[in-house]
Amino acid sequence: MNAYAKLGVLTIINAKGAATRLSGGIMRPEVTAAMLEASQHCVDIAELQAAASREIAKATGAEAGYVASGAAACLMLGAAACIAGLDPGRMARLPDTRGMKNEIIMIRSQRNFYDHAIRAAGATIIEVGLPDRYAGAGVRDAESWEIEDAITERTAAIFYVADAQSQPPLKTVTALAKRHKIPVIVDAAAQLPPQSNLKRFSAEGADLVAFSGGKVLGGPQASGILCGRKDLIMSAALQHLDLDIYEDMWNPPKSLIHKRKLKGTPQHGIGRSCKVGKEEIMGVLTALEFFVKESDAMRHERWLERLLPIAEGLSKLSHCQIEIEGEHDSTMLPLLVITLTKPNASAHKAIASLIKAKPSIHVDPSRRDQGKLVINPLCFEKASAASIQKQLILAIS
Ligand SMILES: *Cc1c(COP(=O)(O)O)cnc(C)c1O
Repeated sequence: MNAYAKLGVLTIINAKGAATRLSGGIMRPEVTAAMLEASQHCVDIAELQAAASREIAKATGAEAGYVASGAAACLMLGAAACIAGLDPGRMARLPDTRGMKNEIIMIRSQRNFYDHAIRAAGATIIEVGLPDRYAGAGVRDAESWEIEDAITERTAAIFYVADAQSQPPLKTVTALAKRHKIPVIVDAAAQLPPQSNLKRFSAEGADLVAFSGGKVLGGPQASGILCGRKDLIMSAALQHLDLDIYEDMWNPPKSLIHKRKLKGTPQHGIGRSCKVGKEEIMGVLTALEFFVKESDAMRHERWLERLLPIAEGLSKLSHCQIEIEGEHDSTMLPLLVITLTKPNASAHKAIASLIKAKPSIHVDPSRRDQGKLVINPLCFEKASAASIQKQLILAIS
């Protein structure tokens, strides 16, 4: 009996993708082994974060890096770093930002649930632009002059959510931010693959970039990496690390924290509540190593191996159409899209009956209103393809 069953919790097949509510994905054995090994030894956690910084810097091309409990945690730390800088007094007062630069500019069309992380640091979000192109009313989005117009002496940062559709282009935003000496924080949580995106946003001038550890990277579900400017990573580290230590005993690794730049030893900061253990740090670093080693083409092949048997089983059915989006583009995560074609067929009902199946199968419901079911290969194993195929045939017949 597995450990979940002992608690009366049934395991599910996650064909939705790396959703936190569905517990993310299945880690490769090497990542699990690294976490197990990490759990058997103790280390100085700041030293481990300094080593992580070097590894993340190598993989991303940024000056420095850090590990926290998710991309959202990294965004909160990034915002806190931009607001407090290297001032221990400000760090101690967050999220109370009175008297500090506390405005973070954001393009209105990029607002999403995760910007709560930015507000949690004490920032006020200043929205700019009208997303006409999403409203069905026009073609435009925020313009760079509108972003520039919103900059005041209270501006702490510009927050940019990277996505294929994001406008204006990141390079335009970082160029104007540099003119005003304002840092740009990029949410790139779900921007892998392609692998080249690990370096892309820093190369395009972002000061801080957050990636999810638990999505395509394949690390522990509760991990994320932040990479960027050395002074900002230092501030993020100071607001995250456990600092319950006598001042004279505190000798943090200089590559991560330059103690002499500080007027005193900060207290526990706002990030203390999103701590990571040695297990998560070693897990996400191992995942990062494997992610960099494996080419986009090999990863794409591995994902297709999970989708193709399902697609083949469905191809004989007359009441649905199937398509694998991104089948021939190795820089994409391929998706199996099933369109129900029988009159009165309900994708809502099919999705609900898959959830009730044994084992329970969760597909991506985001296109249910168009009569489509989407199978995302990221979080199930090849061995589950037969079960998914069988239950799909029952659910849509
Ligand atoms: C998933 C996601 C996050 C949060 O990532 P976690 O690692 O789960 O904290 C933030 N922003 C975007 C755009 C995401 O897709």
